Amino acid sequence: MSILSHAKRIVVKVGTSTLTHSTGLLNIRKIELLVKILADLKNAGKDLILVSSGAIGVGVGELNMKQRPTDTPTKQACAAIGQCELMYIYDKLFSQYNHKVAQILLTRDIIEQDKRKQNVQNTFHRLLELNVIPVVNENDTVSVEELEFGDNDTLSAIVGTLVETDLLLILSDIDGLYNKNPKQFADAHLIHHVPNISQEILALAGGKGSALGTGGMITKLNAAQIALANGFPMVLLNGKHPEQIYQLYDGETVGTIFGTSERRL
Ligand code: ADP
Repeated sequence: MSILSHAKRIVVKVGTSTLTHSTGLLNIRKIELLVKILADLKNAGKDLILVSSGAIGVGVGELNMKQRPTDTPTKQACAAIGQCELMYIYDKLFSQYNHKVAQILLTRDIIEQDKRKQNVQNTFHRLLELNVIPVVNENDTVSVEELEFGDNDTLSAIVGTLVETDLLLILSDIDGLYNKNPKQFADAHLIHHVPNISQEILALAGGKGSALGTGGMITKLNAAQIALANGFPMVLLNGKHPEQIYQLYDGETVGTIFGTSERRL
């Protein structure tokens, strides 16, 4: 059994660079393959929660903008447009495999206010009981400064905690954690297992990888810290090759595993 085949409940986070071309428009081939594999995990009996980035990037593409906006209202407008398109695509693709999706948009105050947190947990749990795949994103219309999670890596780890997940799977534009930023150093090598997040591990994160990506490696390591502190492991895979999810399922050595699966399983 692998860390993935073992897990009953899985939060999957997918980054902008996986979902979109450099033009900002949706990478249809990639997203179709990803949905197919996730639908298969669902068919294998997993509870699935998808945290999807990409709303701003898709909105930028929809509006034919030459580059990503820098001012907050335009980013929020792009997110509102792109979120709608993203959900339409997920709904359409998952329904081909007879799976239903639901949209959940969150702001940071849900972790600070008990009543709100409880409402969010109730919604997640009922959706999972109803066999629906919640698709989560930050509520960009409301989320400015003190209300924001900041990045979807952190958001996905917080969602993992809220739904008591068995595993957090982050799909990025890179094969996993390297000993240094592979976009800058040709001799960087992949680290397959990180049992704990030490200061030395945090120091390995360089800058972000692409114009459309937002977090870079540091937010993925922060997510791993939250995951491990809350008793579930995290795996970082390359979203450019969604079939790596099958390799992980089959127990092959792929990506970077943070922590171990021992506590929950
Ligand atoms: P995503 O949009 O998938 O969230 P990001 O671009 O935000 O992806 O983050 C992944 C990027 O982090 C990689 O493409 C890489 O350039 C950068 N990075 C920095 N340091 C490292 C490291 N030590 N190992 C792997 N990637 C790193």
